[in-house]
Amino acid sequence: MSEQVTPEQVVAKRTLVGEGSLWDPEDNVLYWIDILSHELYIYDPATGTNRTIPTCQAVGTVVKRAAGGLVLALHNGFAFLDLDTEKITPIADPERDIPANRFNDGKCDPAGRFWAGTMEFNGKQDAGALYCLDADHNVSEKLRPVSISNGIVWTADAKTMYYICTLADTVRAFDYDVDTGEISNERVVVTNEGEGGFDGMAIDAEDKLWVAVFGGWDVRRYDPDTGELLRDLRLPFGYVTSCAFGGANLDELYVTSAVVGLDDETLAEQPLAGSLVKLDPGVAGVPACSFQG
Ligand code: CA
Repeated sequence: MSEQVTPEQVVAKRTLVGEGSLWDPEDNVLYWIDILSHELYIYDPATGTNRTIPTCQAVGTVVKRAAGGLVLALHNGFAFLDLDTEKITPIADPERDIPANRFNDGKCDPAGRFWAGTMEFNGKQDAGALYCLDADHNVSEKLRPVSISNGIVWTADAKTMYYICTLADTVRAFDYDVDTGEISNERVVVTNEGEGGFDGMAIDAEDKLWVAVFGGWDVRRYDPDTGELLRDLRLPFGYVTSCAFGGANLDELYVTSAVVGLDDETLAEQPLAGSLVKLDPGVAGVPACSFQG
């Protein structure tokens, strides 16, 4: 069942908490972040460069904005990022009265709403919530409580949303109304029966889930219809945080990881930990959706 894979290192870096990988199918670049170093990265495989943009506060995730530039989910809420000036412009902060919380993972739904959730900096149980920023820049609370809000994806038909809270350590499914952004009929479809905790998530062209497992040393492919573990790709680093399909054919899997809290001996044993790497997943992904506001 387990397959040992040797990923290709594409950006050598010791990110504290590398995260938020997202492929831009128009510009053919990969966005990713280091939450705790307060940095956004743009990796361009054509040139091998990895541009660094300071976010000046903890950054949880990044999505593309259809009108140009990017949208960030930051410690202090949602914000636009202008890629020419690197200026950050706040949009809305639903938790401005909770400074102990920050935004964590999130992605855009098929209608271009930006969904992202929060967590207390140390992952305190039930301290966070899942929010949705719509195209009119209104924020609505969608799910509470959550603890460490993480991966979120939608099926190709936009009728189902899958969501991970790392402390729950499951993938939950919801029926999805793409016209209204309403979720309903919550149920658990995958439970972690291995090591580590479920973290970031991507979905492939067959509507199967790819879950990065923090502390699990792996990325796993699950069938959300049966809960079955389909593949277990073992990596040479433990704190696996996010994955994203990329490349011109969306048939490469980029993977991020963390080194926070690891001692020198452990770091020496995990030379790729914290880097941006890619591997061959044997299946293609689907293009990410952009924010339409
Ligand atoms: Ca995460």
